Amino acid sequence: MAEAEVEHYGSSQVIFREGDPAAVAYMIDSGSVEISSEHGGKKMVLAHLGEGDIFGELALISQQPRSATATALEPTQLSLITPARLQEAMDSADPLLAILLRGNLGRFIWTQRFMLPRTATEQQGVSVEHQAHAEMEVEKDIDRALENDEFELAYQPVVDMEKGHIAGFEALIRWRHPERGMVSPAEFMDVAELSGQIVPMGRRALELALEALTEFQQSIDANCPEQPPLFMSVNVSGRQLLALDEVENLNGVLQRSGVSPERVKLEITESFLVDDPTHAAVALQKLRDKGVRLAIDDFGTGYSSLSYLHLFPLDTIKIDRSFVQEMLRDQRRYRIVRAIAGLARDLDASVIAEGVETQGELKALQNFQSDYVQGFLFARPMTHVEARRLLAECPGYL
Ligand code: C2E
Ligand code: CA
Ligand code: CA
Repeated sequence: MAEAEVEHYGSSQVIFREGDPAAVAYMIDSGSVEISSEHGGKKMVLAHLGEGDIFGELALISQQPRSATATALEPTQLSLITPARLQEAMDSADPLLAILLRGNLGRFIWTQRFMLPRTATEQQGVSVEHQAHAEMEVEKDIDRALENDEFELAYQPVVDMEKGHIAGFEALIRWRHPERGMVSPAEFMDVAELSGQIVPMGRRALELALEALTEFQQSIDANCPEQPPLFMSVNVSGRQLLALDEVENLNGVLQRSGVSPERVKLEITESFLVDDPTHAAVALQKLRDKGVRLAIDDFGTGYSSLSYLHLFPLDTIKIDRSFVQEMLRDQRRYRIVRAIAGLARDLDASVIAEGVETQGELKALQNFQSDYVQGFLFARPMTHVEARRLLAECPGYL
């Protein structure tokens, strides 16, 4: 392997500043380094590092600017670790080591992702303390809500593109808050993910969704017996799948429900597959082995996903709303949607286009033979009672 490049810094000399573009990581050969960050004009020392320590390593996996400032505290010698050098080391490593390392780097990015919303609010002038306090309050509120069973589901129809009937529903979580009324997931999902409360919350959502599927199917059987069996799509957070034993717990919920597993689609976001492909592949295979169907959600919003696709036992690709909605204005997006539909066909996966709001979008999607469509054009998410009322009419949408 090529000799590492070395740099020397004097006492109090800055190595890089918060906000600088990041390209390399460093290892301390000798000397010491202080890592600090600025909050409201005040310097906060985050760490003191010495010989053998590595810092700035986020640069090797993401092109985010430096999140802290590094300063030499005494005459210090550093070895540079470039992405090329890391790649070289990975290439010559035992494949097992390389896979483990990639998995760990992926999880690291995952954690970072959850830190990003905080940084954004800080920039809007909200103090870290204030933000942390507000999050703790939400967390306590969620605990209480879990105990009182305040979470329920809204159901949005998914329409068969060829026949026009309701083929299934997507279950979307809602919080019936005693004081605030109906609260949407945008307001509590980040906290639930960060705190891990998404694990019991998501398990409960699966239970409710499967109960609903059984009842919805009874409506279909009674009113429109010629229609094929309904499916139910349930969102599952990557955080749930990383929790110890949770895949077994979810399989238990499935088994107790008595629902045929092939009627259940679990929606996993693309970012989870990209961030932590090794864990994702293991967890998804365990679920797939029980017969449930797997959908990749928000497809097109992550990056480098194509190279990973064959690793996962996927049945459905959901084209993200942003593509569907921009497709008629932007030729590039139009072609991307067409390519995704083609790719899905090659992988024997079905396609659900989400966020369809206009007839124009529907027409365009008909050209690509998308299998299912979902969006406000057909129906908004609705309560359990509304869904049953709708099913009693056997609606046709096309
Ligand atoms: P998602 O999985 O992408 O869900 C689709 C979201 O798009 C829903 O928002 C739905 O109401 C909205 N939507 C559907 N059709 C249209 C349309 O035509 N136009 C527009 N503008 N929006 C449309 P919702 O219910 O607020 O859910 C937001 C996100 O919260 C979901 O995005 C999902 O990531 C998350 N979420 C919801 N329920 C659960 C859950 O049980 N577990 C987990 N882990 N996440 C959930
Ligand atoms: Ca979804
Ligand atoms: Ca989605």
